[in-house]
Amino acid sequence: MQANVDIAIVGAGPFGLSIAAHLRGSGKSLRIFGTPMQIWRRHMPKGMMLKSAGFSSTICDPGRTFTLRHYCEQQGIPYHEVGLPVQLDTFSAYGLAFQQRFAPGLEDVPVETIDACAEGFALQLANGGSFSARKVVLAVGIDHFRHIPDVLAHLPSERLSHSGEHRELERFRGQRVLVLGAGASAFDLAVLLEDAGATVQLIARRSAVRFNYDEPLNRPLLKRVSMPMSGVGPGWKQRTCTDIWPWLYRYFPDERRLRTVREFLGPSVGWFMRERAEAVSQLLGFEIEAARAD
Ligand SMILES: Cc1cc2nc3c(=O)[nH]c(=O)nc-3n(C[C@H](O)[C@H](O)[C@H](O)COP(=O)(O)OP(=O)(O)OC[C@H]3O[C@@H](n4cnc5c(N)ncnc54)[C@H](O)[C@@H]3O)c2cc1C
Repeated sequence: MQANVDIAIVGAGPFGLSIAAHLRGSGKSLRIFGTPMQIWRRHMPKGMMLKSAGFSSTICDPGRTFTLRHYCEQQGIPYHEVGLPVQLDTFSAYGLAFQQRFAPGLEDVPVETIDACAEGFALQLANGGSFSARKVVLAVGIDHFRHIPDVLAHLPSERLSHSGEHRELERFRGQRVLVLGAGASAFDLAVLLEDAGATVQLIARRSAVRFNYDEPLNRPLLKRVSMPMSGVGPGWKQRTCTDIWPWLYRYFPDERRLRTVREFLGPSVGWFMRERAEAVSQLLGFEIEAARAD
């Protein structure tokens, strides 16, 4: 086993990288693992745009020295705080530049196991290496939690796939594809599949589609007061969460914290997709009870 470090970060997406940036210069010894910006570069469809606005898509470093706006200015990429969707490729490249600047020693190796030990935690790496860390920060994202509804789970993999499997959509050209869901992923995929030459039908349980904002630019004063803008969408509850009590939230009892996570936000489609999304053939208010391949 290699030498002990103070902190190991598992994950090199926006959160892992941001934590690494904050811990740099803290005097603590640190190792960070993961494939930089993995889901953004490999598991989201080409051509997608971010639902979060420019100002809320920055990866945070302690001095706010390398925001998405700084990156776009350096690269000559058009940028606005709100009202101009951020391209997936721009955000992925920004994340990589952030990593090179703040976590240059990143190790692109999966962590296989983490066990408690006398020094804190013993970490086993997929390349056979191992070491111990006093503290571990898990920032492994959502990709390990892909869910396929039970009624569909028996379908063969050549007929059924999860949205997280699709970077390239070319292979669907000329095919009929059913997209299940009414959130941003579902509508982004439906539209991009149509662009790739597929015929798309969307089905969802909810009876109406929600969009994240109505009018991001030139919002009337009344709207700005009654529904103030925040990093997670407009509204006082949203604003309170992001700007007023994010720290307070951590002191809530577990049950209350988890309930907030379950009930807050929910599926919504990017405002800039409205016209394209409304043109997708869709059956809303339907739940699939059974499915078979024929
Ligand atoms: C289609 C889609 C669109 C989205 N659009 C937006 C958006 O517009 N705005 C927004 O804010 N959020 C968006 N999200 C949510 C997005 O997933 C999160 O905001 C963000 O990626 C979370 O960052 P993260 O660092 O927690 O995880 P991730 O970005 O998922 O990164 C996980 C990291 O963990 C690493 N990892 C996992 N397991 C291991 C292991 N065992 N060992 C080592 N490393 C490991 C991976 O390699 C990767 O580096 C979107 C998500 C999806 C699926």
